[in-house]
Amino acid sequence: MKITDIRITDHAIELDPPMHAAWDPDPRHGFTATVVRVETDEGITGVGSGDTMAGFDAHRHHFLGTDPLGMAVQVRRIESVAFHGGRFWPLEAALWDVVGQAAGLSVSVLFGGVADRLPVYASWCSVQSAERRARDAAELEAEGFRAVKVRVDPRDPEPGIASVAAVRAATSLDVLVDLNQAWRMAGDVRPAVELVEIRRLVRRLAEFEPGWIEEPLPYDDVDGHRLLRAENPGLRIASGEMCDNRPQLDALVDALDVVQTDVVLSLGMSRTRALAESLAARHRRFTPHTWSNGLGLLANLHVAAGVGAGPYLEFPYDPAGGWTPERRDFLLAEPLRPAADGTLAVPQAPGLGAVLHPSLSDSR
Ligand SMILES: [Mg+2]
Repeated sequence: MKITDIRITDHAIELDPPMHAAWDPDPRHGFTATVVRVETDEGITGVGSGDTMAGFDAHRHHFLGTDPLGMAVQVRRIESVAFHGGRFWPLEAALWDVVGQAAGLSVSVLFGGVADRLPVYASWCSVQSAERRARDAAELEAEGFRAVKVRVDPRDPEPGIASVAAVRAATSLDVLVDLNQAWRMAGDVRPAVELVEIRRLVRRLAEFEPGWIEEPLPYDDVDGHRLLRAENPGLRIASGEMCDNRPQLDALVDALDVVQTDVVLSLGMSRTRALAESLAARHRRFTPHTWSNGLGLLANLHVAAGVGAGPYLEFPYDPAGGWTPERRDFLLAEPLRPAADGTLAVPQAPGLGAVLHPSLSDSR
């Protein structure tokens, strides 16, 4: 089989009312997503999405005419290009979609086939009042969710701490907490909150026995992560969602309980599988970040189910903050939704099983 073309199209929706993300200083009035289509001489087309693919046009020729089924070489090819700039992992997702279709198998089976559905946690993006969050959490519990992730802004932690307390009091959901300290949006030059304040904050949050505390510190502060683990026995520290620097990630992994690399934003599908297997052998958890779009969530779902990630997969979902399945999954014909038991099923169609929305325009 040969790759005959790699087409990249950009798509956008307006967000009115806007989305509020705790990690972004600016409200979002629009949402853009890029679709990669790998076309082959055997009539199979694979699709992927996640990062922007900006700059890929200069590198397309390295892939045209090559065999999409030679995935180990394709991953090395993507990495050779990434060295010169760009996180082109949506292309790997589209290539795996081709491989799965050629094999007649779901990509999750090619990645190990541990599970065909995973429990999900509702990942809130915004900070809201404690009263609102108590109501939201009770609704999640009624919908079948078993866990929720609450944002706590370390610069102004009281509303987030109050929400953690309210969710704990109102439900039996497992509460995960994200401090969003590891990386910044482009153009956000605010420094991370210093270690001494984070130590105090994490100690307070530990009282609520959260399932984990996520991104308490910048990736480079490996010693700080170690310190937080040592002084809070029984508390899991999670991080790594956007970390694509292998030496940095390898150093950080030793200081974590939960690793969260995203297959379409940070590490790619194949490398994430290897990482997840090495984590399992060391009794550490892997469960990926999934905040891109529905097609990116789907790629993460396949890898996570394939390797047996857990205990929950991230399901970005926060109607109070303006993030609904319809907005998140506007690329797809149908939004992804968990079943009544709180699990998200892996599509069993060959490949990623993605059905794109019929209204998607075909050109950039
Ligand atoms: Mg996070």
